[in-house]
Amino acid sequence: MGIPVLQAARIGAYLLKQQLSGRKRYPLVLMLEPLFRCNLACAGCGKIDYPNEILNQRLSVEQCMEAIDECGAPVVSIAGGEPLLHKDMPEIVRGYLARKKFVILCTNALLLAKKIDDYEPSPSFTWSIHLDGNQAMHDKSVCQEGVYEKAVEAIRLAKAKGFQVSINCTLFNDADPEQTARFFDDVTALGLNGITVSPGYAYERAPDQQHFLNRTRTKELFRGILSRGRGGKAWPFTQSRMFLNFLAGNEAYHCTPWGNPTRTVFGWQKPCYLLGEGYAKTFKELMEDTAWDQYGVGNYEKCADCMVHSGFEASAVQHMVTNPIKALAVTLGGIRTEGPMAEDIPLDRQRPAQYVFSGHVEKKLSEIRAEKPASAKHGPRVRITRSGSGEAGPEPVAAAE
Ligand code: SF4
Repeated sequence: MGIPVLQAARIGAYLLKQQLSGRKRYPLVLMLEPLFRCNLACAGCGKIDYPNEILNQRLSVEQCMEAIDECGAPVVSIAGGEPLLHKDMPEIVRGYLARKKFVILCTNALLLAKKIDDYEPSPSFTWSIHLDGNQAMHDKSVCQEGVYEKAVEAIRLAKAKGFQVSINCTLFNDADPEQTARFFDDVTALGLNGITVSPGYAYERAPDQQHFLNRTRTKELFRGILSRGRGGKAWPFTQSRMFLNFLAGNEAYHCTPWGNPTRTVFGWQKPCYLLGEGYAKTFKELMEDTAWDQYGVGNYEKCADCMVHSGFEASAVQHMVTNPIKALAVTLGGIRTEGPMAEDIPLDRQRPAQYVFSGHVEKKLSEIRAEKPASAKHGPRVRITRSGSGEAGPEPVAAAE
């Protein structure tokens, strides 16, 4: 299994408590984006084209701790941008572990060898290395050669030092089921603790808009992959079997965007990790003031092709809690990869997309400029290096640093 027993037991107890208390909406994983700056420039990423003043922003240690104290989720997934560019990241991880949270630190691994000794192995701490397939697939996905090799070296190093290591793998429409299945075999042989896999979300600002998957293609792709791995039983996925069952087209879930609430340098992102349609100052405001019914598949055009784990894993987990026998049958029997698919949610009544990105950027820039003394208004000059190390240019200095 991809989920350690301790983690499964603690999360299970948390879920049970929420169910018994009758709470309608509750968080499962805090998605923390303490910076948008990255040392890669991937074609499928919708987060690195902000102006420098925004890329230079960081959430402080205090803000990161406030986020988890406010929302109370049992798991924190730290992404970005590249979290290892944040100079206070070791302190942030220690703070979460001291609060008895499970911490997943996502990284492209380019800086991992340099920074690894700032962290200690723990059953509650997992490195999640970005790896979108074999060498050809991954280097193409991150638009830079040699990154796959560095990521694999980093996995070996982290395993040798006693860390828990998983990979996070995003698949696009050029993924080949056979190649992907063999890739999962190869990374499983490295002794990985887990594989997190998801179809890519079509970020409206991603430079490459040609390679995102639609729903039908996603289900066909996952059936093709899972059929080559004993219905998914051959690999240590970190996700619930019910989520994988959904990816294979055997369930049609509505998303649960509040299950993975997202805190970025803009605030609490409405409605989810993938869509930034607005920002709340507090978690309470996010939960109470978001018009949840306006979002999700069938409700909003931008949601039409979404099957991403950050939106649907919590739906799958809830289904598992309320249908334990079905969940057990899927777990033991493997995921069905043939036969009819579940009828999907109709899209004929969804509201059209709204484009609000530039308004949020302008608002944030005004706030930053209003906060800064005149001498600091232009901030440090920063560039993304094509070497990907982030070392050739000066590391950005954040307002919070
Ligand atoms: S379907 Fe749900 S999780 Fe996906 S983008 Fe829409 S609101 Fe977010």
